[in-house]
Amino acid sequence: MRRLRPLARKLRRWTGRNRPAILLYHRVARIAHDPWALAVPPDLFAEQMEVLSRTRRVVPLTRLAEELERGRARANWIAITFDDGYADLLHEAVPAMQRFDCPATMFVTTGALGGAGFWWDRLSEAVFRPERLAAALALGAGRDRFTWEPAAGADRQQLHMALWRRLRRLRPGDREEELAAIERWAGIAPDRERDRAMTAEEVRGLARSGFFSIGAHSISHAPLPELNRFEKAAEIAGSRRACEEMLGQPVLGFAYPFGDLDPESCEEVRRAGFRFACSTMPEPVRADSPRYALPRLSVGAWSGDELLQRLP
Ligand SMILES: [Zn+2]
Repeated sequence: MRRLRPLARKLRRWTGRNRPAILLYHRVARIAHDPWALAVPPDLFAEQMEVLSRTRRVVPLTRLAEELERGRARANWIAITFDDGYADLLHEAVPAMQRFDCPATMFVTTGALGGAGFWWDRLSEAVFRPERLAAALALGAGRDRFTWEPAAGADRQQLHMALWRRLRRLRPGDREEELAAIERWAGIAPDRERDRAMTAEEVRGLARSGFFSIGAHSISHAPLPELNRFEKAAEIAGSRRACEEMLGQPVLGFAYPFGDLDPESCEEVRRAGFRFACSTMPEPVRADSPRYALPRLSVGAWSGDELLQRLP
């Protein structure tokens, strides 16, 4: 296969498949229950970095954004981004990135730094425990009551999706209460070390390393279109302030939690002083891509060659 790669590269040039793109990762880890496909296993991630370094020009996102401001989208350029701020990157991603000289931007959820992790990991960990198939689950009260009865062929995916939608719109305090109830139902305690977010000190260390730049990803990872304008501004400008205080340097980029955005959110991102923002619209970057909704391609647990096939 290796001998064929230069040929594949030429072929891509002839067919014009070398369009610039921003890649989106979340975590680099081996996770048993990963319903949103957030994790790329470390060995595949290393393959992906090797292939990217050999076939593309991997540039910092700020560099790509600067070129866009000049109206240019450079062929062959790739920018790598990570959302949320998972600590697993430190041991599982950074060594491969350094080895293959691949810089990246990490968008951190500032309210999660130093915390036990993210609610969606705790939820999937609880729901996909097969030994709990026998127990019924009840949450909330009155019109807001949620019940689930185990039955033959009960669909865990469906239960997971229903609970995910429910928890996503709850305020942090209510969500914590319901998560705790779900974990009691599942008979588990969250794996706080495995799923944790980075500490502020770890983020500062990455920023100091020089090949990671830091962007903001809101304070609480709330879906912004569901908030009023004041709440949006607080999440957006507040996360910029928190990042800048933590790092002592300007923070230029924002990424929308869940990729959810509306015109008001984009406007608040601009008003907060960010220079650009990333969505999850799965497209290559074009010279006229909206600066406050840059498209990104989500990368899955693919081999290096598969990633190459999927790149635009
Ligand atoms: Zn996120």
